Amino acid sequence: MEQALKNKIQITLPDGSARAFAAGVTGIEIAESIAKSLAKAAVAVKIDGVQRDLSDPITSDAALEIITLDSEEGLEIMRHTVAAQLLARAVKNLYPDAKLAIGPTIENGFYYDIEFKEPLSSEDLEKIEKEMRKIKETNAPIVKSLNSKADTIAAFKDRAEPYKVEIVEGADQEDGFQLYAQGDTGFIDLCRGPHLLSLKQVGVFKLMSLAGAYWRGDSSKQMLTRIYGTAWRNDKELKEYLHMLEEAEKRDHRKLGAEMDLFHFQVEAQGSVFWHPKGFTIYNQMEGYIRRRLNNAGYKEIKTPQLIDNKLWEKSGHWGKYRENMFVVPDEIPSTDDDGPVVSDKAFEKLMALKPMNCPAHVQVFNQGIKSYRDLPIRFAEFGCCHRNEPHGALHGLMRVRQFTQDDAHIFCREDQITDEAVAFCDLLKTVYSDLGFDDVKVALSLRPEMRVGSDELWDKAEDGLRQALLKTGLEFTEEEGEGAFYGPKIDYQIRDAIGRTWQCGTLQLDFNLPERLDASYVGQDGEKHRPVMLHRAILGSLERFIGVMIESYAGKLPLWLAPTQVVVAPIVSEFDAYAQEVCDAMKAAGIRVETDLRNEKINYKVREHSHAKVPVIIAVGEREATDKTVAIRRLGSDKQSVEDLAKAIESLAQECKAPY
Ligand code: ZN
Repeated sequence: MEQALKNKIQITLPDGSARAFAAGVTGIEIAESIAKSLAKAAVAVKIDGVQRDLSDPITSDAALEIITLDSEEGLEIMRHTVAAQLLARAVKNLYPDAKLAIGPTIENGFYYDIEFKEPLSSEDLEKIEKEMRKIKETNAPIVKSLNSKADTIAAFKDRAEPYKVEIVEGADQEDGFQLYAQGDTGFIDLCRGPHLLSLKQVGVFKLMSLAGAYWRGDSSKQMLTRIYGTAWRNDKELKEYLHMLEEAEKRDHRKLGAEMDLFHFQVEAQGSVFWHPKGFTIYNQMEGYIRRRLNNAGYKEIKTPQLIDNKLWEKSGHWGKYRENMFVVPDEIPSTDDDGPVVSDKAFEKLMALKPMNCPAHVQVFNQGIKSYRDLPIRFAEFGCCHRNEPHGALHGLMRVRQFTQDDAHIFCREDQITDEAVAFCDLLKTVYSDLGFDDVKVALSLRPEMRVGSDELWDKAEDGLRQALLKTGLEFTEEEGEGAFYGPKIDYQIRDAIGRTWQCGTLQLDFNLPERLDASYVGQDGEKHRPVMLHRAILGSLERFIGVMIESYAGKLPLWLAPTQVVVAPIVSEFDAYAQEVCDAMKAAGIRVETDLRNEKINYKVREHSHAKVPVIIAVGEREATDKTVAIRRLGSDKQSVEDLAKAIESLAQECKAPY
């Protein structure tokens, strides 16, 4: 009896219920004991929060979660199996001397880096995809084994896989190396897992493109071929994804930015935007809108230096952790003689850095003068221009830049003010997103990690404050255990754009650490010095990136209040130039951003051209309009026009052109 009890283990399920199983039970057996349908949908398990294979024996009490294909995690595991098992094996079947390197999953899919004897063509991709389908049809089981380092190296040497050998040689794994085989086909892959139980569970997939990639990202090493692919649960999902890609290409903000004459980039200033007049109008409108919202919400705007001594970055901790992303310059310009600059050691004694973030500078402003508990909360806002040294390869139009402006602010408050401040911020953020056309917001609350500063009481208060704020504002959210920063919990906000993509933009981050490091304090009611809590927060994140997101989400057809040119007035023939000018002047006086187009071109040509530049309203005037004092209004994307009384049209357009706040 005792013996039997000893061999039982307790499995706790996510709903809190616990069941006893014989030690050595596997995840798939547990799933089957719960429901057949669950076992069918299961792709892996999480044992005490760690992903494992369904076939792994569980030998001690554990919390168990069954991962099914309908979850994001499950989908990622399936993609991983498609890359590591289907793609890799198909390549080895067709090109026996190809050498496999690594095959991770990425957003929406996967890739595999492989060394081929001959360069691949798009026909080769089709061939490989066909072979993958053939292999999938075998429904082969995927079998895991644990092997010693020596055996693993030997297995890959046998198969002439030098990259795998190099990976194993450079790795140390106490409990052995995991190899996944497909039945007895002889194919193996080295992998941390988990994988599907069999190829039967693989959904639909497509190979997308080819690229070059250096082994281990090192340009002095071998150039490999990277094969990109995507995988989904079913045809419908794949079709939707491919459609989204097509739409995304049409909406590419770099393409639209050129068509609309908004901005450009050039090699002399990699990753920094040259805003053209029209683009900068959008930028200024966005900034002005946010500024009004912040002023009204009790923020005080400040401006802090671009170049700051590294001593401050050392104190703030950025010099230690973030230095490689910072642009660093000597404080003093070296003197020159006839041979050029004389670089003395002294010039480099003192270094300055372009700020990668505004936080330490805001603490400096807070630290001026003594603050009392009655002064809090203090909310400092800055349209802070920051520089981060992103590698050239990572830069992407407005979406990933080196110089950007944050709609940044820091709130210094007492611990008892955290909830109120969080509520006010969530509210503000929600209405800003809604004004900008984004009502679908995905929110994640990241909770305390193992390594952290601050007492448990403080974390309790902080996490609960953030949770309450989300509940109060009715924002749906997920809680991510252990994902908070060591210095405080945080909320990340993602918006969903018109074609279903999500963009991480807003953030609210509590910080118990920086006030300590930079010695920020206030005098409490008790007359003692206390540390304020610091809240880092942004709604748009980077103005540049947000404008990129807006352009793509709206496919360039921005809301009227943001359009650089809101109205173009064009006479049908030059005889009515004067009336067109009169209409334009009256609209300008009403605050509308309006231009005339008096070129000697056909009206249809003008309409086409301004439509291409995404001008939302085009007004045509001819004899009838000039006589009746009316205008013919045409909206972007519609070929209908409506004739309206001039005064009335101005009044309603002026109203429409106003910013939402
Ligand atoms: Zn900050």
